[in-house]
Amino acid sequence: MATLNKNYNKLQGAYLFLEITKRVNDFLKKNPNTEIMRLGIGDTTEPLTKTVVKGLLSAVKKLGNKKTYTGYGEAQGDIRLRSALSDFYKKRNIDLSVQEIFINDGAKGDCANIQSIFGVDNVVAIADPVYPVYVDSSVIAGRTGEFINGKYEGLVYMECNEKNNFIPVPPKQKVDIIYLCNPNNPTGSVATKEQLKTFVDYAIKNKAVIIFDVAYSEYISNPSLPKSIYEIEGAKKCAIEINSFSKWAGFTGVRLGWTVVPLDLVVEDGQKGKVHSLWSRRQGGSQGTMFNGASNIAQEGALAVLSPLGQEENKKLIAYYMDNAKLIKKSLTEIGLQVFGGENAPYIWIKTPYNLNSWEFFDKLLKEAHVVSTPGSGFGKEGEGYVRLSAFVDKKNVKKALESIKKNLKL
Ligand code: PLP
Repeated sequence: MATLNKNYNKLQGAYLFLEITKRVNDFLKKNPNTEIMRLGIGDTTEPLTKTVVKGLLSAVKKLGNKKTYTGYGEAQGDIRLRSALSDFYKKRNIDLSVQEIFINDGAKGDCANIQSIFGVDNVVAIADPVYPVYVDSSVIAGRTGEFINGKYEGLVYMECNEKNNFIPVPPKQKVDIIYLCNPNNPTGSVATKEQLKTFVDYAIKNKAVIIFDVAYSEYISNPSLPKSIYEIEGAKKCAIEINSFSKWAGFTGVRLGWTVVPLDLVVEDGQKGKVHSLWSRRQGGSQGTMFNGASNIAQEGALAVLSPLGQEENKKLIAYYMDNAKLIKKSLTEIGLQVFGGENAPYIWIKTPYNLNSWEFFDKLLKEAHVVSTPGSGFGKEGEGYVRLSAFVDKKNVKKALESIKKNLKL
């Protein structure tokens, strides 16, 4: 008799987006001709840049010609792309070999699947609030107990709130795996080098591993803030970094990213290269067991993103979204709301007024201003009392939403 993985029964996450859709649909049923402005979602809206489209098209053409056709790709991804990424890091004074870079089909899968190379009894620490994938994949993998009072037993939560500027501090107890999301989704906060150093020191001391998700790194404009964990001395011994072309190059649908597993990374027995070889076995394209490589078309597109022209064009794309973020932050501050993030990340984190809970303020924004947000409580217990707005919106809609909030939101 086949039985099911009962850990799935413990999951809470799907509730958030189902509930948002339900509340918006209920509102529209009662108010059929209302224009709703959606500022809740973290999906990109602007088209791919010219250079990227050219790159993608050239790959399609190659596939349509017998002389240039290719099937399965190289084990860890196209060597040209891994070299371009190695150069990308070199410009930031980070030395990574092509062997240490694994091309993936977007960051989400690797953020979850990386857990499979570590022991089931490993204790996981997670920032609260944060992108829900790390918590949910820990639950599915059987690394947690039940969900009680807004938290899973067995997980170590690193609370992020106004007191610590929404930046986590290393746990007091000993943990084995630490997820960090930097810039953080949903708070938009970014750790300094000194703050990251405390995690690297902790991880080296405890032989723990840091899983560093930097899907929004290219949104960091403050030059003193680190864009990669490898800017911190010692990080190659203890950190895996996961990145993506989704948010800064519009690849949310194209699907492409990369994961860095340094050869120097050590865990329990201190043997260098062991973690790398396990990930390679799992994920190493045609030589791996569970992944056959990312699309060759998408990889050609990513090469175009990393070309000088591609990078210049994508800087404009980032500037477009960050201009939205600035507009949102400025307008909401002007009407007296307390607003965080939005400076080095495309998310704006808003404290609810009058101690409303996240869902109450979500309803208020929807009913009075017709604006859809994401309740902060959906990202963890510490997110209660906040909502998240996203800058990934067409500028016209941002302006309409802000005008409506100014005119109609009763504060
Ligand atoms: N990491 C973070 C922090 C995210 O917010 C997201 C998407 O919203 C992802 C990873 C997923 O990125 P990808 O599209 O590369 O799977």
